[in-house]
Amino acid sequence: MLKTRALPAAKLARAVAAILLAAHALVAAAPANAQRNVPVVRDAEIEALVADYAGPILKAAGLTRSGTEIILVNDHRFNAFVAGRRIFIHTGALLTAETPNEIIGVIAHEVGHLAGGHQHRLREQIARAQTLAIVAALVGMGASVAAAASDQGDLAGAGAGLAMGGSEAARRSLLGYQRTEETTADRSAIDYLERTGQSGRGMLVTFQRMAGDMALAGVNVDPYQLSHPMPRERIANLQELVQRSRFYNRTDPPELQLRHDLARAKIAAYTAGQNAAARVFRNNPGGLPALYADAITTHLYGNPRGALTKVDRLIAAHPQNPYFHELRGEILIKANRPREAAEAYARAVKLSRSPSGLMQVGYGQALLATGDRELVRRAAAELKSGLSREPEYVNGYRYLAQAYGQIGEIGAAELATAEGYFHAGAYRDAKILATRAQMKLQRGSPEWVRAQDIIEFREPRRR
Ligand SMILES: [Zn+2]
Repeated sequence: MLKTRALPAAKLARAVAAILLAAHALVAAAPANAQRNVPVVRDAEIEALVADYAGPILKAAGLTRSGTEIILVNDHRFNAFVAGRRIFIHTGALLTAETPNEIIGVIAHEVGHLAGGHQHRLREQIARAQTLAIVAALVGMGASVAAAASDQGDLAGAGAGLAMGGSEAARRSLLGYQRTEETTADRSAIDYLERTGQSGRGMLVTFQRMAGDMALAGVNVDPYQLSHPMPRERIANLQELVQRSRFYNRTDPPELQLRHDLARAKIAAYTAGQNAAARVFRNNPGGLPALYADAITTHLYGNPRGALTKVDRLIAAHPQNPYFHELRGEILIKANRPREAAEAYARAVKLSRSPSGLMQVGYGQALLATGDRELVRRAAAELKSGLSREPEYVNGYRYLAQAYGQIGEIGAAELATAEGYFHAGAYRDAKILATRAQMKLQRGSPEWVRAQDIIEFREPRRR
């Protein structure tokens, strides 16, 4: 399931400081934006896919792949960047990219920035440029700043608006510096692709498209283009390097291409509706991705019976695909058939190569919905385990609290509620609930200790 959550702007600001554009930093710095949120979507299937794209590249760059967090931003425009251990990808980038190789190439380039330590040095540059940009914004960009501060739009969008105007001067002051880094990142990217036996073609295709779009740029420029100047010379150099590789003609493994297309089908179905999905797969209307999108939209339009028939056809074609079973579970939950839903989720969890906390929470939810005492007890265990992998999945704690409540473990239920508040940043409420929970928990038990941690927690000062 594609789930939307909002990442607090303050938390994101730290990561965003690394974006290679003064205008973005300006957005992060503008107090008016402090309350705004970035629309983050969570999905086990897409996150696992992007992790598989990034893994070999990170390894080739000598970076550890463990602890790398994939953050999907619900935004139809093309953008992808790496900040610290986080890889940010706009859903629009995945939808636009026709092959995994295109995204892998962009990730390789971004990892090139990361490995080159560009973000650290750039941060200093941005800090200097920021003052200039803020002055420019205050003088000339009142309207844009006001628009950016409204609830609509998103962080990157605000950056784009600002970059088109007053902060242009600041941006230009960074360009000379940036150009060197872009060349370095391109070279590193080629190197990583070479070492992983992959073609640089996707990266080239993407950059060429952006250079072309830039030439006829209006207001609708992708954020990635703004942060990545694509002068003709750069593209020409890149083309030469890419064509020289013996892997130039190598294409993605068919299995990976299929996963890519299934992810695109899901994104299209969730974010743009039935017609969009049909458009994306117009060349193969009877193919698995088109059928997947169709099953999802049927489910979203509230027709569980129709959706079930469609998902069962997918499962018959690919019984080992965990995400088809996950979708089946979702449909059955909506159809109020929790026992069967739990079975579908159990299969999905079992078939997953990498354990997904999100999926486990789904499983727990289905078990909880049965109301059967034994199954609810199992629900608590699944939810607890899923949340230990996904501690920031705030909604999950509500189910966990319910499960504990139903089996009469009130202290644990209150602690779960406290955790939910805690991870949502509502520390006062978290402490109240943790205090209440502690009175029912056994002194010195792990749960009691955790409640104590919450009670004693000191909120980090916001910058
Ligand atoms: Zn770059």
